[in-house]
Amino acid sequence: MGGVGQRANSSVMSLALLGGSFDPVHRGHLQSAQELVAQLDCAQLALLPAAHSPLKDGHCASAEQRLAMLQLGLAEVGNCGGKITVDRRELDRSGRSYTIDTVREVRAAIGAERPLYWVIGSDSASHLERWRQWQHLLRYCHLVILSRAEQPLQCTPTIQAWLERHQCYKLAQLQTTAAGAVWHCTLSPLPISSTAVRQQIASGAPLTGWLPTSVAEYIATHSLYR
Ligand code: ATP
Repeated sequence: MGGVGQRANSSVMSLALLGGSFDPVHRGHLQSAQELVAQLDCAQLALLPAAHSPLKDGHCASAEQRLAMLQLGLAEVGNCGGKITVDRRELDRSGRSYTIDTVREVRAAIGAERPLYWVIGSDSASHLERWRQWQHLLRYCHLVILSRAEQPLQCTPTIQAWLERHQCYKLAQLQTTAAGAVWHCTLSPLPISSTAVRQQIASGAPLTGWLPTSVAEYIATHSLYR
């Protein structure tokens, strides 16, 4: 399997995966996906709704509702010429949606050469030590960490040292290796979270601009998050 030292054929197409609860999807997710495609120059970016996020107590909307909102939102904001897709593989797997299982599965499907990026926000990276087999993630993919100003990276010295040890500073190196590096990425900040969206809806406050219209309509139609 790859690793930072192993060169991928630069003509092979890179794939980025952005997993999450998407409960519900909001503009922060979708804008990040669009900017990532441009910044990493990836051939494909898949949004993966989790069946059961291991570190969350549960989800408010059902898996199929979260998937439907994701598809609506993506269709509304645009999929970068077909480069951004929705991948339901975690919904079709039983049990909790562990990232290590997903990246292993995707790596087996795409072969050893293609650069594979697993993208997480800084809030998720802060809990990395609680992820199943987190030390093995880089065997299968690169880890791309998005800075979220409202939820900065706050991790233990162990994780900090691990991130620094694997940090890559040259985009070209990241793009031409299959796996094994940590890349820190700053996108246009959009300080929105699904938690804040759910709280606003529950309290009846306006959601100006946080959600694509079609997602807001779906939520209203299905009386979600009330
Ligand atoms: P919640 O508030 O329910 O925890 P969330 O808004 O953080 O949800 P998730 O579905 O958990 O959304 O997020 C999926 C991934 O997208 C996570 O890695 C998260 O850090 C990242 N993410 C979510 N919102 C943003 C945002 N506004 N900007 C950048 N990354 C984001």
